[in-house]
Amino acid sequence: GLLRTEFLVLGRSQMPSEDEQASYFIRVGTRFKGRPVVIRSYDLGGDKFPAPLRPPPEANPFLGWRALRVCLDRPEIFIGQIRAILRARAAADVRLLLPLVTQVEEVRSTRELIAEAGRALTQEGTPFGADLPVGVMVETPAAVVLAEALARESDFLSVGSNDLTQYTLVVDRGNARLASRFNALHPAVVRMLQSVAEAGRRAGKPTSVCGEMASEPLAAFLLLGLGYRVLSSAPTSLPLVRWLVRRVELSAAQAAATQAACATTEREVRQALERGIAEYVDLRLLGG
Ligand code: PEP
Ligand code: MG
Repeated sequence: GLLRTEFLVLGRSQMPSEDEQASYFIRVGTRFKGRPVVIRSYDLGGDKFPAPLRPPPEANPFLGWRALRVCLDRPEIFIGQIRAILRARAAADVRLLLPLVTQVEEVRSTRELIAEAGRALTQEGTPFGADLPVGVMVETPAAVVLAEALARESDFLSVGSNDLTQYTLVVDRGNARLASRFNALHPAVVRMLQSVAEAGRRAGKPTSVCGEMASEPLAAFLLLGLGYRVLSSAPTSLPLVRWLVRRVELSAAQAAATQAACATTEREVRQALERGIAEYVDLRLLGG
């Protein structure tokens, strides 16, 4: 999963200070007792613009000035967040995840800011963790195509299944009228997921899936079969997904995923997965 930091900002008149962020990240990180906590840098913009940033009027905010673009254009904001995460790294296994990446240069620029922040912290004598892992969210078609290059520039990849579905299918994820078209089991999304898993493997970098997708058991079965071993799930779906992961044979998931990735319609994708999973699970349990 990921820790969405925009919630520190929304509804406030000022951006949170570095100290406030550092103590929050340390509090969350230490509660996880040695387990990793993936902190996503501000994914502001789109529908989440806090007052202090004074958002520009935009015709298409979801195609506009958002997420990492905002952070790189406003380094005075980004540096404070990076310093807070570096400081928390001295106390807990926190990691940094970059949202809405579309260019390799964005990762390089972020790494330069991290190095700059590290130099300043060293000079000040402030304790920090110099070995901060940096991950890239694959949630745009550009990032899917460049996934291997992005994996080589970073320490891990994490597919953002919500935005990847939205941007691939050109379906606004918040538009109720298009809800039936918003489907992570669309064959185009399935093939993208396959290609990202392969890119991560080729680059030798861990590749996980976040967003809502893996909360659906059939989709979790697909992701396992495609090679993903770290899935994030909504708390309410966790027991069912965990039960499913423990129950199914990996070879069955792999066979079903191979078929699903050759399908040309969502119906065929679902059929391939349902055939594979039926041996382990009563489909009625899954609403199928
Ligand atoms: C995603 O896009 O899948 C994701 C995890 O991020 P968010 O839902 O916050 O855009
Ligand atoms: Mg997203």
